[in-house]
Amino acid sequence: MTTIRSSLVAKLAFAVVFLILLPSTLLTIYWYERDRAAAIDVEMRHIQSYSKNVANEIDSFLLGQRDIARYGAVSQELRGFLRKQGDPGTMLEFNAWLTYWSKISDHIGEVFVLDLKGNCVAATDASFVGKDYSLRPYFQDAIRGLDHVSDWTIGITSRKAGVYPSSPIKVSNSTIGGIIVIKLNLAPIDAIILRSQGLGVQTFLVNREGVLLAHYDPTLRYATLDDLSAKESDWIRQTRQFADLPQKSLGLKSLRQDIGHSRPGETLMSQEYNFGGDRKVAALTGLQANAWVVGVTSPLSVIESRGKQRFSAVAPMIVLVILFTLLASFYLIRFVVRPLNELLQKTRLLSAGDYSVEAQAIGTDEVSQLAKTFNNMARTIRLHTDELEHRVAQRTAELEKAVLEIKQLSITDALTGCFNRHHMNEQLAREIERSKRYGRALSILMCDIDHFKRVNDTWGHPAGDEVLRLVSAALRDNLRHGSDWVARFGGEEFLIVFPETSLEDASVLGEKLRMRIEDLVINLDQQVLHVTASFGLACLRPGDGDNTLEVLLARADAMLYLAKRGGRNRLAIDSSDGKEQLTSPSTNT
Ligand code: GH3
Ligand code: MG
Ligand code: MG
Repeated sequence: MTTIRSSLVAKLAFAVVFLILLPSTLLTIYWYERDRAAAIDVEMRHIQSYSKNVANEIDSFLLGQRDIARYGAVSQELRGFLRKQGDPGTMLEFNAWLTYWSKISDHIGEVFVLDLKGNCVAATDASFVGKDYSLRPYFQDAIRGLDHVSDWTIGITSRKAGVYPSSPIKVSNSTIGGIIVIKLNLAPIDAIILRSQGLGVQTFLVNREGVLLAHYDPTLRYATLDDLSAKESDWIRQTRQFADLPQKSLGLKSLRQDIGHSRPGETLMSQEYNFGGDRKVAALTGLQANAWVVGVTSPLSVIESRGKQRFSAVAPMIVLVILFTLLASFYLIRFVVRPLNELLQKTRLLSAGDYSVEAQAIGTDEVSQLAKTFNNMARTIRLHTDELEHRVAQRTAELEKAVLEIKQLSITDALTGCFNRHHMNEQLAREIERSKRYGRALSILMCDIDHFKRVNDTWGHPAGDEVLRLVSAALRDNLRHGSDWVARFGGEEFLIVFPETSLEDASVLGEKLRMRIEDLVINLDQQVLHVTASFGLACLRPGDGDNTLEVLLARADAMLYLAKRGGRNRLAIDSSDGKEQLTSPSTNT
């Protein structure tokens, strides 16, 4: 069943869901996604520029140290020494000079000079002198006239890792006389890496082989991003000579590949990778000084949480919108839908005929006015209905009375007030039927006023009518009340019916009637008139057959005829033995 309520509530729910909640949710999701993308973008840029900065810092440190090597290479002392080399006294003196010169930078560990074959000819550490460094890349590059900053390299003598900037020493404009090599401590680079941690970002330094040289987690130093490649590089081969190569692999295949793609001075974003259960991205910047790569990482969870932080600022607004929407819906249901529904129920009652209904109408809003109008309408209908019902009741009573009167008239003779001939026939037929069914006696008495013609002739027709009225009244008044009845048979003839009455009893009653009419005093125009009547009595006999009514009437009529012939004013009885009996008036004949 579709009530106003359910359809209004459905419409309301539709409006709330599709016009408010759904759009605001979609808008929120859109905002959230946009913010999230923006937050990720910002974070990506952030770590990219951060990685560039860290790379710049390490580069300027390394290149600065390389420039110191270059500065040493052009010094008069060094060039002069190379020209005079082979003199042991000069060499000792020069070792002291190198130690003095190395104070030029806090980060210099050792300084040594190689001849054109790669043999050490002078060094801050005298134990270096005489050793062969010809296989080292810092020698091989510099001997070709190039400045060089080495990879992470284990010292042949010290067996400790270091970085080796080197520079060719030119003794004349075009002739290289030897190589100056500086061994740098790694501590400043570690310091830069450790200093760069924080704000959710972390840094590491890795070489082209994928070995971590510095890492925000110091326990991971010398771990490899992925398994070392099967094809050994020069660096791997040389490192193996002096130290065990790192075995610990972090299994970061994609990061290892991305490092292979990075270019000096350029920054690229790594693919998302998984590290220690964290999803991470890294910005990778290749150093210009050597073949190292600086990585700055950020966990995606942190990046996404920035997006979520923005969302959590919007979330209370959404909750408020939903709350206000629900409150508005509640308000509408309480103050519009529910009153309308009640009104609908009342309207149904009214249309079903209950005019006593009254709707609740508090307030002045449209719904209340509707309820008030409804009440007025119900009151008007109630008044009309009451009046209509009253009128119908009145008319019905009048009609019933009229019907009763008509019915009375239809069975009554207008002049005498006795039953008429038609009704007599019906009633008598019924009496005969009943009498036969129960085996009871039924007597009828036919009465005819004597010499009535004379009354008419002497006193006039209206007087005759009056006589008819008085005689019929006398007959009625002297009947047994409740059972016997009289009808006007025609003219001045009457038929009296005695139900359940034997011939004997009826003859007594008949005689009584005859005497009452004889005694009747009729006053006409100060004159007194007396009339008599003759009576024929018959009783229903067993075996009278089907046409009993006519037979019975014929027999009573025959008796009447007998009474007339016998002198009038007497009663003739059709006795059961078939013999007629005539009664004589007790007084005059
Ligand atoms: P009898 O003793 O033999 O009965 O004589 P009678 O004069 O009564 O005879 P009859 O039956 O021939 O006459 C009946 C008269 O009754 C005839 C008629 O004019 C008169 N009559 C019949 N109906 C009415 C009536 O309604 N009013 C009046 N005033 N007279 C009537
Ligand atoms: Mg007659
Ligand atoms: Mg007569």
